[in-house]
Amino acid sequence: MLYCYNCGNFTTGNAFYCNFCGRSYDVKLCSRLHVNPRSAEVCSQCGTRDLSTPQPKVPLRIRVLAFLGFVLLGMFETFIVVFLVGCLVVAFLTRQDVQRALLSLGFLAAALWIIWTMLPLWFRKFVYRLLQRTRKSREDNE
Ligand SMILES: [Zn+2]
Ligand SMILES: [Zn+2]
Repeated sequence: MLYCYNCGNFTTGNAFYCNFCGRSYDVKLCSRLHVNPRSAEVCSQCGTRDLSTPQPKVPLRIRVLAFLGFVLLGMFETFIVVFLVGCLVVAFLTRQDVQRALLSLGFLAAALWIIWTMLPLWFRKFVYRLLQRTRKSREDNE
């Protein structure tokens, strides 16, 4: 009895091919049943290129399991990242001191910007000119 790694069925006796999917077991067979290794492209005894497809080296179920394992691992990693980000967000939302510091910084920036835009144009131009002059004088000194 032989077990087929391709389709997962048993074929009775000392079979050449799987009864269910037609694959050969671990060898490539030509139409005259000459036995060739897996890597053969041409039959070594009659020269035909008409060789059977051998069953996979690794059982299909194990490959499926390995694939599922990879998928699960990926999901696990994603879960960990989401969990860590969630923890950070929760810490940020629950820590009021952190919130207050960020909020006051934001308010300060907004207030400064509003004050700046409320200043008359001539004053802003004056400040710009002042800044340019100080930059120029600094360059002159160097
Ligand atoms: Zn089969
Ligand atoms: Zn042959």
